[in-house]
Amino acid sequence: MLKAYKYRIYPTKAQITLIEKHFGCSRFIYNYFLDFRQKEYVKGKKVNYNTTQAELTKLKNLDEYKWLNEVGSQSLQMAIRNLDSAFSKFFKKKSGYPKYKSKKQTHQSFTAPQNIKVANNRVYLPKFTKDGIKLKYHRDIPTNAILKQATISRQNNQYFVSILVDDNMPIPKPIKAKNAVGLDMGIENFIITSDYVIYPNQKHFIKQQKKLKKLQRRLSRKQYSRKKGDTTLKSNNYIKQKAKVQKLHTKVYNQRKDYLHKISNEITNQYDIICVETLNVKGMIKNKRLSKSIADVAWSEFIRQLEYKSSWKGKTVLKIDKWFPSSQLCSNCGANSGKKPLNIRKWTCKECGYTHNRDINASVNIRNYGLGQIDNRNTAGTVGIQACGVPSDGITTAYGVVVSHGSMKQEAQSSLAVG
Ligand SMILES: [Zn+2]
Repeated sequence: MLKAYKYRIYPTKAQITLIEKHFGCSRFIYNYFLDFRQKEYVKGKKVNYNTTQAELTKLKNLDEYKWLNEVGSQSLQMAIRNLDSAFSKFFKKKSGYPKYKSKKQTHQSFTAPQNIKVANNRVYLPKFTKDGIKLKYHRDIPTNAILKQATISRQNNQYFVSILVDDNMPIPKPIKAKNAVGLDMGIENFIITSDYVIYPNQKHFIKQQKKLKKLQRRLSRKQYSRKKGDTTLKSNNYIKQKAKVQKLHTKVYNQRKDYLHKISNEITNQYDIICVETLNVKGMIKNKRLSKSIADVAWSEFIRQLEYKSSWKGKTVLKIDKWFPSSQLCSNCGANSGKKPLNIRKWTCKECGYTHNRDINASVNIRNYGLGQIDNRNTAGTVGIQACGVPSDGITTAYGVVVSHGSMKQEAQSSLAVG
């Protein structure tokens, strides 16, 4: 099965020049053929991968595009392939219309599809075959694995290589499910599980976010021309401040990713079925008051991690429709008590008198819905999982906080609340 291995790389100055050249050419090809496809489309002509390949060969033979030959030819073909898959995603309505890539984007990349080797803490790929690029080899690639492709990227002035590897192992068959969990992703707390485990939003992270904002504000006061055609140089203070902003930005980004990895590992190790709600993140970000914390918790990144880790471990992620009224139903008796404002953290069911913590109740509902047992409470399900509010046995957490069954302790709630 395919897996990605990502490493930080440390290219020399000359290598950086060549890498940047690859970014530029890949970006150019991507944009060129995006334009090309649009023009052909207007003429009523269909464009497929082969047409664009032939066009690329023609282009490289023209004098004015000779410079395209300085980079690995296969990375140019990969740029076309990437454009191709962007279009097919668009046609399948999985994403929006492909956009032009800009030099100004902080994330730049190119991909080499063949002839990749990792040895002696170095990665070798076409045009980088002589000495290879130094990398920090923190995770072993299995010896019998086939290296399918390598993507070199730059993020906030750091360089990385992501190597796609076929480890020759069969995709694990879904295991017989023994337990299940529902996850409610909140604003006050990052995740609340149906087993009463809370993964808090990291406070220090929010603090750093504030610091970052301050640095950025200071940056905006430094001398730097933003108008086109103006040749005023960036001031030294601007350059220094910009470096500071970027450094903190990278730090915050890495810390958050690290935290998400810890939680997604812990959950995919312990549970066989993981039910999550697909919240309408885009819609929520429009709400200004919530926007910062939503972006902070990096919801979609977390679901992405859950999904690929589950596929490695033979576990199942069930995505629950965002319109499922998880916070309206009583997980004890099933009564629907209607919408509640976000500031209502605790409520008592009028039908059965059970007092719920809003988020835990929602996560139990999500689990039960995922198991198809929402209307079948208090009966054991087909996979033998108790579907009512009873937590699974033997669940441990290194990164979360276990709260008492029933309702959450008051001090726990206040100390975890953020923003
Ligand atoms: Zn009830």
